[in-house]
Amino acid sequence: MVAKKLLITAGKGTNQITRLLNIKLPLIPLRKTFSWLTAAENSYYKEGKFPAWGYDDGNSTYYGFPDINEKGLKIGRHDGGRLLDDPRELEQFGTYSEDEQEIIGFTHKHFSKDIELKEGKVCTYTNTPDEDFIIDYLPEYENIMVACGFSGHGFKFASGIGECLASILMEKQPAISLESFRLSRFDDSI
Ligand SMILES: Cc1cc2nc3c(=O)[nH]c(=O)nc-3n(C[C@H](O)[C@H](O)[C@H](O)COP(=O)(O)OP(=O)(O)OC[C@H]3O[C@@H](n4cnc5c(N)ncnc54)[C@H](O)[C@@H]3O)c2cc1C
Repeated sequence: MVAKKLLITAGKGTNQITRLLNIKLPLIPLRKTFSWLTAAENSYYKEGKFPAWGYDDGNSTYYGFPDINEKGLKIGRHDGGRLLDDPRELEQFGTYSEDEQEIIGFTHKHFSKDIELKEGKVCTYTNTPDEDFIIDYLPEYENIMVACGFSGHGFKFASGIGECLASILMEKQPAISLESFRLSRFDDSI
């Protein structure tokens, strides 16, 4: 396939692709866990009664959603996580004792002691050193762009960023400046 420009948005797999060009971007893939939990008196946590929420005590940051369709209270930790040497190898929930201990510890302290783990899952954050996005052309390639390193908070921006990327690839002015997402801010680490 021949194309005038290429855009790489491969999340945790980005460096697998840029490696073909001998480029390693400052991306830190982290194993993240999130869980569904139930309580004896589950009605408190139902959708429509219990809010989505965030918690930050300066040491740890958690977020959560009410029980929707009997799935249980959904809670995840935004900070922390285990560094992944190879982003393709994501050990399942429960591989480490802290997977369950951490979430039960948090919920027993801040919710109620009768909360039990229903199901835990894992996924990946692809963090950058400053936990902000990388949206830029690759060094020495004016026709290859990357958008990656969304550091656990990119989903909500996906449509807006997608629109800006489309504009740039069609050589139009993007709706917002993407200057602050340039790779040059990490110059000494590429
Ligand atoms: C538990 C959890 C909760 C989150 N909660 C929120 C939230 O509340 N709000 C929010 O804004 N963000 C949240 N995020 C972050 C959000 O999901 C990510 O920032 C966003 O999905 C990153 O988008 P991406 O396109 O860079 O990567 P991805 O969504 O991972 O997409 C990358 C795509 O590239 C493909 N790919 C990978 N490697 C290759 C390869 N070598 N070749 C071809 N294709 C490849 C993958 O299959 C995948 O389809 C959360 C993330 C997690 C893990």
